Amino acid sequence: MTIDLHTHTTASDGTLTPAELVYAARRDGVDVIAITDHDTVAGIASAREAAAGTGLRVLAGVELAARRQRYGLHLLAYGIDPTDGTLAARLHELATLREERVRNMLELLRGLGVAVRWEQVAALARGTVGRPHVAQALVEAGYARDTGDAFARYIGNGSPAYLPSARLTVAEAVALAGDAGGAVALAHPLLSLSRRALVALLPALRAAGLTGLEVYHSEHDAAAVRYLRELAAEQRMWWTGGSDFHGAAKPDVRLGGVAIPPEVLAQGPFQGAMAD
Ligand code: AMP
Ligand code: ZN
Ligand code: FE
Ligand code: FE
Repeated sequence: MTIDLHTHTTASDGTLTPAELVYAARRDGVDVIAITDHDTVAGIASAREAAAGTGLRVLAGVELAARRQRYGLHLLAYGIDPTDGTLAARLHELATLREERVRNMLELLRGLGVAVRWEQVAALARGTVGRPHVAQALVEAGYARDTGDAFARYIGNGSPAYLPSARLTVAEAVALAGDAGGAVALAHPLLSLSRRALVALLPALRAAGLTGLEVYHSEHDAAAVRYLRELAAEQRMWWTGGSDFHGAAKPDVRLGGVAIPPEVLAQGPFQGAMAD
């Protein structure tokens, strides 16, 4: 059984529409996917529609940007009801803040003599707008060689036109997901944190209501996976995993490309989601 519980669509910064993602999952022999777009659940309904009757299971998820002190963290919520009104309203508020942040970053770029218009960036973002779209606009306007160059010179963390995104606290993210019936895992823990920082941070994250850990991820090597599996077991946390597929935005990442043990679906918020 092929399972991929971390995927992005054009509802955020992926390059496949939800229907295209479903098509690709079926073509590549994936049995269960979770859609985990950044701060939006807008892709889930049309993915489910496209998957209806095909045997592909589409689980609802969302990858929430959160913060804890100086750390920017990604949290994966699963088991949520994507039609929940409060969830939609809060996510919409966050989208408005994201847009403001990008507009302010474009102001900073203008101050550097780099003229990229909001309309150019917005046209690249079919869903949630973010730095990847700014990077793409910078490339298209000839200010950067490629998106990596755009991040390095202009908008990467600490670069001259970088602004942090407005973020939920971990407790707010947990409440948001919990009110919509779900639970929250820390996404790709060893991407944003060292082992040491993770262990130091975990008690506070647990106290804020975090119950799961993402163990399997395209950028976690075998040693990271082993470490995180043990940590999750020791902490009595549920675990999850996926490719973090973004389509052509991350060409090296294949849908279903990270092997996830099927037992994943028997724990945490997946039990209820699979029973629906
Ligand atoms: P945002 O949420 O708008 O701050 O954008 C974050 C996204 O930008 C991440 O999901 C990454 O895919 C991408 N990103 C961050 N840093 C870099 C980098 N140095 N090079 C390329 N992409 C990056
Ligand atoms: Zn992304
Ligand atoms: Fe992430
Ligand atoms: Fe992701």
